[in-house]
Amino acid sequence: MAQTTDLDLVHVIKRFGSHTAVNDVSFSVAPGEFFSILGPSGCGKTTLMRMIAGFEDPTSGDIRIRGKSMIGVPANKRPVNMVFQSLALFPMMSVGENVAYGLTSRGVSRAEAEERAGRMLERVGLKGFGNRRVTALSGGQRQRVAIARCLVLEPTLVLLDEPLGALDLKLREHMKIELKQLQATFNTTFAYITHDQSEALVMSDRIAVMNQGRFEQVGSPRELYHHPATPFVASFVGETNKWQGEAAGAAPDGTVAIRLPSGTMVKGQGRVADRATLAFVRPEAIALAQDSSSLGGLPNRFEGRVSAVLFDGANSSLLIDAAGFDEPVRAVLPQAGPLAGIQVGAPIHVGWTVEAMKVFAA
Ligand code: ATP
Repeated sequence: MAQTTDLDLVHVIKRFGSHTAVNDVSFSVAPGEFFSILGPSGCGKTTLMRMIAGFEDPTSGDIRIRGKSMIGVPANKRPVNMVFQSLALFPMMSVGENVAYGLTSRGVSRAEAEERAGRMLERVGLKGFGNRRVTALSGGQRQRVAIARCLVLEPTLVLLDEPLGALDLKLREHMKIELKQLQATFNTTFAYITHDQSEALVMSDRIAVMNQGRFEQVGSPRELYHHPATPFVASFVGETNKWQGEAAGAAPDGTVAIRLPSGTMVKGQGRVADRATLAFVRPEAIALAQDSSSLGGLPNRFEGRVSAVLFDGANSSLLIDAAGFDEPVRAVLPQAGPLAGIQVGAPIHVGWTVEAMKVFAA
């Protein structure tokens, strides 16, 4: 039977002394999938990657590549290649030599290695760059050399450890798209680690959100964004409003009434085990109007005043001091219409649906 996964982690645990860096993590990555592990600094993602690459042994559990256990298999015998944040290119070598190096050191003849390196450079858009020093390349071009050097070895799996972290913002935005396109063209399986949710959302087929050594949720970018399974995922992935309150009643259809500390009531959807609750609403789910009648159908409706206009081009936001809310309500600034030019201090009405507000036990 054809192997349906390129990578499987089965109940992997890694302890350093009394500290558990990776705590019972299991997941599978399909051939050709772009799989990201997203989490804050210190959550254990580098440790996880190092175990897949073979630089670290799990305390328990199994790591399989194309169905074969990698336990006891040294790093250089695994069908895996890694792209580091530093890229680790050889500065004294030309671009072509950098790409060919892995092949010649595996016994491929010099002529064949040069030929394959040349073809690979062409595929990553660096035709004619073979004789350049890597020090004479832009950051984005160096990134492509690092990917070419990795892909020329035809690994089953490419591991990428925050490879865009050292680039400036503009180049990072560009490289996100380029990296995703390269991965799709080569159809190679990518496992990518990052603490940057926008990188993970743009590039990945699926994302695992990691927190304190555990996976909180694994899903497509849309699933994580629209249906977060935990409060951590709701606040870590994407912008959100977050309010604390107390559950004050739940209906069988999953509608939960929440009392905010001011006594104001809001209605959302979720399951609450305790009284203490957290409620999340995305800024783009907040409807805005100058008069309350146009928000008539919404169960959550409040009066407020604009406290800040955060202009950022297409992604501009409004902060609104709304009656009954301790924290400002964040909403998306409309690009057109009567609210597009709204000023600080202007009165405004906000509203949202029950479905837009995700409720969790705190
Ligand atoms: P960052 O994004 O900052 O690199 P990370 O999510 O990759 O963070 P890890 O580097 O995997 O996190 O570290 C997870 C935890 O394990 C941290 O608390 C770290 O201090 C600890 N840790 C990692 N390597 C070792 C080690 N060799 N010995 C002891 N503790 C370690």
